[in-house]
Order: sequence, then C-alpha cells, then structure tokens
Amino acid sequence: MRGQTEETGRYMERESEITERLYEDHQISLDGLRTLLTTDHQECIDRLFAYAQKTAQSIYGNRVYIRGLIEFTNYCKNNCYYCGIRCENKHAERYRLTEEEILSCCETGYGLGFRTFVLQGGEDACFTDERICALVSAIRTRYPDCAITLSIGEKSKESYQAYFDAGADRYLLRHETADETHYRTLHPPELSLANRKRCLYDLKEIGYQTGCGFMVGSPHQTVETLYEDLTLIGELCPQMVGIGPFIPQKDTPFGRMPAGTLDQTLRLLAIIRLLHPPVLLPATTALGTIHPKGREKGILAGANVVMPNLSPVNVRKKYALYDNKICTGDEAAECRACLNRRMEDIGYRIVTDRGDYAG
Ligand code: SAH
Repeated sequence: MRGQTEETGRYMERESEITERLYEDHQISLDGLRTLLTTDHQECIDRLFAYAQKTAQSIYGNRVYIRGLIEFTNYCKNNCYYCGIRCENKHAERYRLTEEEILSCCETGYGLGFRTFVLQGGEDACFTDERICALVSAIRTRYPDCAITLSIGEKSKESYQAYFDAGADRYLLRHETADETHYRTLHPPELSLANRKRCLYDLKEIGYQTGCGFMVGSPHQTVETLYEDLTLIGELCPQMVGIGPFIPQKDTPFGRMPAGTLDQTLRLLAIIRLLHPPVLLPATTALGTIHPKGREKGILAGANVVMPNLSPVNVRKKYALYDNKICTGDEAAECRACLNRRMEDIGYRIVTDRGDYAG
C-alpha cells in the first residue's frame, strides 16, 4: 500500500515536471506527451488547462477573436476518407454560392462586427483562379479594414501568390497528419503529405498568416503520430493551428468509426498553446458539436478564437463534413449573439478586431 502511494507520488512529480517544462520552456518529449494525454490525475489535467489559459491571457487578455466562416462551395474533386463532401459521396447535395451571395454574407457579417472573413470550400474547379482573385479583390475593395482568409485546399504556388496579390491575408490548410503512414490511411493515393507540406511552406514564404492543423482522434491516430504533428508545427511555425475532434459522417468510409473526444481535444489545445504561446487557436465548431459547452471549454483550455458561421441558412446543412453539426438552423445574428453570451458567461469578451497574430 505504502509502496503504491510512493509510486503514485513519484509519478505525479514527473507529471508536474512535464507541465512545468511545457509552461516555462515550451518543450515536450514524446514520453511527456504520452503522459499528459493518458494521465487520469485530475490535478495534473487542471494544472495543464490553468497554465494554458494563463499563457493565452498574458498575450490576448480575456479577448476572443471571431472569424466569419463562409462555406461557399461543397463541390470537391478530392475523396478524403473522413470527409462528408468527398467526391464519391453521392448523398451530398451539392451547392455553390454566387459572388453576390458571398458578398452579401460579408455585408451581414460586417454589420455584426466581423472583421475577418474566412472563405472555405471543397476543391471546386468551377472556382478558377480568376474567379477567386475577382472575389478576393471585390471583398478587399469593399472592406479594406478586414482580413480575408482562404481555405480552399492545395494549389500551385503561383495560384497562392495570385490570391495574395488580390488581397488575401491568411490561409488555412490543415496538414491532417504529419505521419506518412497515417496520411495514407486517411487519403486516397492521389493525395500526398509531401504536397500538403509543400503548400504550407509556399504559403508561409509568400507571406500569408498560415494555419495548419489536424483532427483529434482520427482513425489510426496514435501518440506517436500526434508527436509528429507537434514537431511539424514546431518546424513550420504557423500563425494559426486548427484542431477539432474527428466526427464520423455516415456516408463516408469512416462512417462507423468512433469520434475524437472532448477530453483529448482539450488537452491538445492546452499543449499547443503552451508550445506556441502567441498562436491563434480556435475552439472549433466540431468541438461545439461533440459537447454543448465544447467551445467554452476550449477557450478555458487556451483557445482564443471562435469561428461562427456566416453562410446562408439554406446551405448550412449541406456543408456536412461530419454529422450533427451545430448551428445549421440559426441566422448569423443569432449565432453572434449566442456566442457573445457564451463567452461572457465564462468571463471572456468577443472583440471586433481583425485579430492578427501577436507573435
Ligand atoms: N478543402 C479545404 C477545406 C477542407 S474542410 C482543405 O483542403 O483545406 C476543413 C477541415 O475540416 C479539414 O481540413 C478537416 O480537418 C476537417 N474535417 C473534414 N472532415 C471531418 C470530419 N469528419 N470530422 C471532423 N473534421 C473534419
């Protein structure tokens, strides 16, 4: 009995060393990561969240940035095994918004205090580089004080440069997993991790505020693959990192796989905050989908961004990357008001600000 207590004591000491090193030196080993992801000592988990929250607050105070997400097309030429808008999903009801509809989302969003617009979509050949550039410059001209974020997948460096020259400032492209073998289990053969990484390095070189990221609990993910994710984030030094739980979509090959958990997502949010203190880190819609207070808990574990939906209500259900997505019936103004309340309830405040990287 005594031996066991001593052992637990030693173990907890080791846990606190790992957390201190993460907080003070922004470093973690593979073993340390394993410990922080598997420990069931509540004291240790609480300390991890408290440090992450304190670190986020030392840079961003109690301010939370908002990004208006416009899901402008769910046509996609890719066939990722996890994603509901993959080209082989015949059940997906396809749509694309017109330029006028997209600009009208921006207008509504601007009136609600959004100063970042995120244009996200599948890889849709109908939106040629010319159309994307025209769209970006139309938004740039109308809203010179706003940030424009693109999230439209893998393109050539020339295309990325053209969008940047047209006025885009930021680009989100989750790397999905930094492990080759894991990458192969999530994607069809025509997609490659090498090209995904090439894109990310091109984006950074061009001067975009760049975001990578991954799903938590994706099929075949391990502590080792997660450690590779953290290593890639360390090498790329992105301004943003998007992580959220994997959630199965019933018409995909992974439709019966278990979802990622709230607990693991929160621990990883906290670890990423501590490894990269100034990073822009959203509490994602997927996190809000697996738990009614998911986004609030995300903020309390070190996240500092929320990305409510600005897409027209009639298309929201159709942008179904995963099942049971929240807020598909609410108008933008309702989402905005609801998030305001949710953030105020936990002592935070949504700000009307471009919310640029503070690093
Ligand atoms: N075509 C763009 C946008 C992809 S959708 C691109 O390639 O970047 C945005 C993100 O949603 C993806 O990067 C992926 O990480 C996430 N996603 C896709 N399917 C998901 C699922 N079933 N559960 C949770 N997140 C998912």
